[in-house]
Amino acid sequence: MSELHYPAGLQLIDGAWVPARDKGELDVVDPATRAPFASVARAQAGDVADAVAAARRAFPAWAATNPSDRGALLRRWAELIMAEIEPLAATEAQDVGKPLSGGRMNIYIAQGIIDYFAGAADKLTGVTLPTRSPDYLGYTIPEPYGVCAVVIPWNVPAVLTAANVAPALAAGNTVVLKPSEIAPLAPFALAELAVRAGFPPGVLNVVTGLGPEAGAALTSHPDVDHISFVGSTATGRAIMASAAQHLVPVKLELGGKSPNVLFADADLEAALPSIVWGITENAGQNCYAGSRLVVDSSIHDEVVERLVAAMDSVRIGAWDSDAEMGPLVTQAQFDRVTSYFDAARSDGARVATGGGPTGDGWYVRPTVYDRVDPSMRIVREEIFGPVLAVQPFTGMAEATELMNDTDFGLLACIWTNDVSRAIKVAKQVRSGQVAVNQFHDAGVIGFPFNMQKDSGFSRGGGYGALREYTQEKAVAIKVLER
Ligand code: NAD
Repeated sequence: MSELHYPAGLQLIDGAWVPARDKGELDVVDPATRAPFASVARAQAGDVADAVAAARRAFPAWAATNPSDRGALLRRWAELIMAEIEPLAATEAQDVGKPLSGGRMNIYIAQGIIDYFAGAADKLTGVTLPTRSPDYLGYTIPEPYGVCAVVIPWNVPAVLTAANVAPALAAGNTVVLKPSEIAPLAPFALAELAVRAGFPPGVLNVVTGLGPEAGAALTSHPDVDHISFVGSTATGRAIMASAAQHLVPVKLELGGKSPNVLFADADLEAALPSIVWGITENAGQNCYAGSRLVVDSSIHDEVVERLVAAMDSVRIGAWDSDAEMGPLVTQAQFDRVTSYFDAARSDGARVATGGGPTGDGWYVRPTVYDRVDPSMRIVREEIFGPVLAVQPFTGMAEATELMNDTDFGLLACIWTNDVSRAIKVAKQVRSGQVAVNQFHDAGVIGFPFNMQKDSGFSRGGGYGALREYTQEKAVAIKVLER
């Protein structure tokens, strides 16, 4: 492994690694051993104010920087990430508890996102507008907001750092990032590489601390111009209410309860491994996790039998073992997921496999509940664990009704060999993202990470993210006779 260093107990403010003003620190715990293995600063309101002030000071010069030069810095950052892929992958894996392969995948994704926005930075344009006569000129200019606050959760920290910081910086904003106190290390390691890449002081600041302390201080700070929040629907609601005090625009990326719909003509050899991966990758702790399976009743029995066998063979273990699935991230997350096993029992759900913890620590078994009732909590609520609820359907109308019978609207995956049916269902499903014959967006460059309903409203992910991080100014000019 190379020499990737991320400072313990410090945070990045104005280009320097500094302790919290009151020297407070938080332990970072390895979910596999349940023991602390690092520490980070515990930022309070004063630290957050320092970071916002640094971002404010850096903003005019950064916004005025030639966008090609901003793009070049982002590309240099992406190159440094590639050079450190293994230590970064290990950091992400150990911090979240996911297998090293999952950590590696996340760093590749993060690097790809930063590289994408490196290329996009100097391609952001406004439009010229039609005029009623040649004596007028009308055009729009996309302008950065100023200081962007970015608050992210613990489940894919490297990816979410890249997905929010890179477009904000590419568009000419400066950023204060607050990673989750539960898994902050990869964002810090990425920030260290941003410093090495040569971003000017104050352009990217990273503070960490608890949500109600550092998070609330950042999202209610009067000098923040834009808020990006990724996390739970409950916290998203609270942040939006607080942002109303300063009329600050908010981008929300929240929870999900994403369905796979499996039609009888689907290619099961392709579908079943993807469905298992979609609910066990990162131990099901993904916003887009495929936590519901809506399956044609004519193939239901065969599908459930094969799913159970596949779920039972998922290798479970620590991040540095040859595992496919790790533990849940914290005791609180373990308690949350196991409470859903209790809820399923009291609701009378039928367990096809799993339904409880396994081994020592925060491990739970990949779980399938079969023929669930749509009113059950395991069907309605985001569990954020490796728990799949199966609902049989008869006919396309019922399939679509079951898919849409949720408060969330993040991802829907349609499995069928009938292209007309795929197009029809993709149109009818109320979801920000749709995949056909695959789980999620593989193969598509710049796939917009869109959301509907209680999953939030964002234009993250692709080129649209540059629009998300800019405000449009409209200019109308009369050309005078001279
Ligand atoms: P969370 O809402 O508890 O915390 C997310 C972040 O918000 C953390 O950094 C936390 O410290 C901070 N925070 C908490 N309370 C705050 C407050 N009052 N003010 C400001 N900040 C506060 O979520 P979590 O448990 O860390 O993450 C899991 C959730 O994230 C799930 O619901 C998952 O679906 C969602 N998620 C969504 C996406 C997406 O793109 N839609 C991606 C990943 C995760």
